[in-house]
Amino acid sequence: MHSILDILIVGGGPIGLACGLEAKKAGLSYLIVEKGTITNSLFNYPLNMTFFSTADRLEIGGFPFPSIHAKPNRSEALEYYRRVADVEQLDIRLFEEVTGIASEDGLYLVSTSKATYRARHIIIATGFYDIPNMLGIPGEDLLKVRHYYYDPHYYYKQKIVVVGANNSSADVALETWRKGAEVTMVVREGELGRIKYWTKPDLENRIAEGSIKAYFNARLTEVREAEVDIQTPAGKVTLANDYVMAMTGYQPNFAFLEKVGIKLSDDLYRHPYHNPETMETNLPRLYLAGVVCGGMETHVWFIENSREHALKIIRHIQDK
Ligand SMILES: Cc1cc2nc3c(=O)[nH]c(=O)nc-3n(C[C@H](O)[C@H](O)[C@H](O)COP(=O)(O)OP(=O)(O)OC[C@H]3O[C@@H](n4cnc5c(N)ncnc54)[C@H](O)[C@@H]3O)c2cc1C
Repeated sequence: MHSILDILIVGGGPIGLACGLEAKKAGLSYLIVEKGTITNSLFNYPLNMTFFSTADRLEIGGFPFPSIHAKPNRSEALEYYRRVADVEQLDIRLFEEVTGIASEDGLYLVSTSKATYRARHIIIATGFYDIPNMLGIPGEDLLKVRHYYYDPHYYYKQKIVVVGANNSSADVALETWRKGAEVTMVVREGELGRIKYWTKPDLENRIAEGSIKAYFNARLTEVREAEVDIQTPAGKVTLANDYVMAMTGYQPNFAFLEKVGIKLSDDLYRHPYHNPETMETNLPRLYLAGVVCGGMETHVWFIENSREHALKIIRHIQDK
């Protein structure tokens, strides 16, 4: 058992780090506990991923993020956040998972895979990138069905079905096609979705010229070892297939939030309750920060608009 911390921060993503920086500036004792490597979600992003935000909008703690590109890429962001944490000597425990948070004698007792901590305040900044939204169709458990994508090289000469029509799907379709994959997109809606403005015309043109095949108003209905079934407006289509890239989004760890005692809205969005002014949840002195706040609405919060949560929370703690 360690001494009592002012704040324990769950999650060492960009926003967890931002909270650590503000806590340090305010002279509060804090500890960041991260279950993976530092900025674990960013580490697991596609190798060639480019942010849609400019570098200045990804900055935390007032530290400049220099990039020679209009929009920085994954490697630059990893470099930036690690260097900021290093230079500031942020107190962070890596590869240590928070498994439970209980209230005891006016303090929070935090259990992790390695230790137990006591803290006056908790900030949960656990993001949403660890749990993919499942398709719920037969064959989804086959190893060829992927919810995360890393490097296009792997898919050279492979027959790929990409499910979805937002940024991730567009990147996967274009990158793998350029590295020699045969790509078919399955799009539930009648048109492409939210795609970076510099990527969308590229994809539209590849679809128009027939290089990438796309079925709109369509659904993947079954995956088998060597083929897939797609329900299209013209009827069922069966395609030979090597890999399914199910880019259907991700969701926060609701089970963890509920176990902690945070109320979720009853609607489809499952918004975790928090006061937007202070970020305090229904549990006193327990706060939410970062993209976890959006529940199933994962397109509402980003680094660029949720980094301000850090300052709001630390001010609220100080004002008490
Ligand atoms: C492909 C992609 C591109 C994006 N591009 C942009 C962009 O251009 N601009 C922008 O502003 N936003 C962008 N976003 C959104 C935003 O960058 C990310 O969601 C960002 O990672 C959010 O930061 P966060 O700190 O809230 O959550 P995360 O970065 O997800 O950090 C949460 C951390 O908590 C850890 N964790 C979870 N559970 C536990 C536990 N029980 N114990 C300990 N640790 C735990 C995780 O390992 C993780 O490291 C993008 C998202 C994706 C998926």
